[in-house]
Amino acid sequence: MRVRLRITVEGIVQGVGFRPFVHVLASSLHLAGMVGNDSAGVFVEVEGSEAAVDAFVARLESEAPPLAVIERVETARVASTGDTEFFIVESERGGEHQTLVSPDIATCDDCLRELFDSSDRRFRYPFINCTNCGPRFTIVRDVPYDRAFTTMAGFVMCAECGREYHDPSNRRFHAQPVCCPACGPSLRLIANDGAPLPGDPLLGAVALLRDGGVVAIKGLGGYHLAVLAISETAAAALRARKHREDKPFAVMVRDLETARQLCEVDETEEQLLLSIRRPIVLVQRRPDGGSTRPIAPSVAPGNRLLGLMLPYTPVHHLIARELDAPLVLTSGNVSDEPIVYLDEAALQRLSGIADAFLTHDRPIHVRTDDAVVLSRRGRQAVVRRSRGFVPQPITVRDAFRRQVLACGAELKNTFCLGKGRRVFLSHHIGDLENYETLCSFAEGVEHFERFFDIRPEVVAHDLHPEYLSTKYATELTGIELVGVQHHHAHVASCLADNGEVGPVIGVACDGLGYGVDGSLWGGEFLVADLVSFTRVGHLRPVPMPGGTAAIKEPWRMAAVYLDAAFGRELPRGLGVAVRHGHLWEKILAVSRSSRLSPTTSSAGRLFDAVASLMGLRDRVNYEGQAAVELEQVADPTERSTYRIEIEGTEPFLVPGAEIVRRVALDLLARVAEPVVAARFHNAVADALVEGCERIRESTGIDRVALSGGVFQNRLLAGRTADGLQQRGFGVLEHARVPTNDGGISLGQAVVAAARDAAGLI
Ligand code: ZN
Ligand code: ZN
Ligand code: FE
Repeated sequence: MRVRLRITVEGIVQGVGFRPFVHVLASSLHLAGMVGNDSAGVFVEVEGSEAAVDAFVARLESEAPPLAVIERVETARVASTGDTEFFIVESERGGEHQTLVSPDIATCDDCLRELFDSSDRRFRYPFINCTNCGPRFTIVRDVPYDRAFTTMAGFVMCAECGREYHDPSNRRFHAQPVCCPACGPSLRLIANDGAPLPGDPLLGAVALLRDGGVVAIKGLGGYHLAVLAISETAAAALRARKHREDKPFAVMVRDLETARQLCEVDETEEQLLLSIRRPIVLVQRRPDGGSTRPIAPSVAPGNRLLGLMLPYTPVHHLIARELDAPLVLTSGNVSDEPIVYLDEAALQRLSGIADAFLTHDRPIHVRTDDAVVLSRRGRQAVVRRSRGFVPQPITVRDAFRRQVLACGAELKNTFCLGKGRRVFLSHHIGDLENYETLCSFAEGVEHFERFFDIRPEVVAHDLHPEYLSTKYATELTGIELVGVQHHHAHVASCLADNGEVGPVIGVACDGLGYGVDGSLWGGEFLVADLVSFTRVGHLRPVPMPGGTAAIKEPWRMAAVYLDAAFGRELPRGLGVAVRHGHLWEKILAVSRSSRLSPTTSSAGRLFDAVASLMGLRDRVNYEGQAAVELEQVADPTERSTYRIEIEGTEPFLVPGAEIVRRVALDLLARVAEPVVAARFHNAVADALVEGCERIRESTGIDRVALSGGVFQNRLLAGRTADGLQQRGFGVLEHARVPTNDGGISLGQAVVAAARDAAGLI
């Protein structure tokens, strides 16, 4: 008997070769019918024998293309039309947008082979791509995902590309960005005054780089600034021109082998480097510098890690082969501004930094920085979720009752939109500290709302009244606002990252977050679910003399911690006190007269204090710098610790000053620095485990969620998780979203949804 079935498929099914796959599958089963994209995903109708139709449905999911993510398949019998052929139909617009667009994907092996095959018509063509690779999210203007709604709309396919595009047996069948030298975008090399430079653009750029020049290179999500990574003069010049003091630069290497020469790459890191998302992977450098051509000191000053990535566009591959040397590839921006992605703005803003621009005429629609990941005990941990990950949604356990916008935090901002069971987490927006970044945030929200057809009725925000993201939220009208405490959002984010809802013991260690009492929190033990939390313990608060000045100058935190530890009996011989002479006394006078200083229970500030006490760093150039250096000094094989007593109840207090006192005594006793730094890490981890033990005794909860930027510290996170597991706790850590403030918006969204579902807003 002849049957006809209508099948709708939702998920990431557009721009991933799904329709060609369906066409081939249906044809092989001798089925008639059609396939097309609509705003809900892909719809298919197949007609033929019952057995063939059944086989089709079964293989639709099991044999789907590698980039496809199928979230839902629905089938319905429809009347037979007597079709005898199978064909691909035009896209249908309108209706509710449910489409999921694929993230940008690194150049695939097939395209690479063609790129370097002199007999191929796309030999050395810098924009080669196919159904399995190439730009996606960054070029899509609207859904459904069709060429007309991408920034490729202006390029008319030549006859030959058209043939490939319409041939179901071709790898480029319905590949929207398909193009070739005859019909597609082309490279240009221009001087920093906008004048075109003669000769082959790519070879010209490579020659400039080889000579130590700074070249701005237009990539997938924005402009990079590039210099030769083995040239100290070039790297130092880039640093000076970009006004970036110490923050490490990322390095692109030609292949895995080169990566291995520079760094100790483990199996997980290898997979991350090679993944189709092609993120920056933070890897341990070889102590000897590894290569005969070591990375210049200015690339990642004082850092044991190196951010490595492999080429992910044809342009990168061409440059990497030609240059055959590691290349610094850092965001094209001035200090903390968002990455530049428009051609005119690039010329305007980067002409003082770059000597030349390697650019092209395929517009970027959404700016997207490179993503950053690391391997933590064999698992991926995302540090910055951006290009390659976005806009792939995160599926949550409970559906949103109403659509939600969560505005995120201030630093490392991301926002997200929630609808159904999906959360669309934005690309990394940056630190919301200037007008440009705020604009980028507002534009991003607008784009995502349209893209995913979401009109939020509930808007979640941080409690900090001065965050620009909070101000953005509170100025919106016609919506319901939900304030979510910063560390509750951290813990909720970790729960959502793991598909859980609590209740859980939440340990949130970070820089600073606004507490419900108006003080600055950051070393917190919560008992939390998605709806609410109780603060059951925290680091004993200390003054933060000078407020934000104390963030920039860790020695101030050393001063207050030593004051709390020793009072006026400060032992002689501590370098930090000597270095700051009369200012030291002044700071202490301020901090002792209570009301003049805000107080904080921040774990980040405790790490700052110890880093300064150890003489590593008295002033920082970026947030978390001192803590990073403290971690790198520590000897990871050292197991000794400082045992300290937790004080009080409800909430209990962890006396950070006692740990600082022990560090000071060790330093005075000339214990080796790597040992002291390790003992400090071990002591903090032990105190966290001890705190969880107390909470388990009184509540019976034995699962712990670890979140907050301080857990980017692998030594601390590892020691804490190990300690908890040894005591029989279940441990939840971040994997898909950052443990830092880049994960806050996800936490805010799920808290808002849970409160909404409980009728609490
Ligand atoms: Zn390809
Ligand atoms: Zn063409
Ligand atoms: Fe935070």
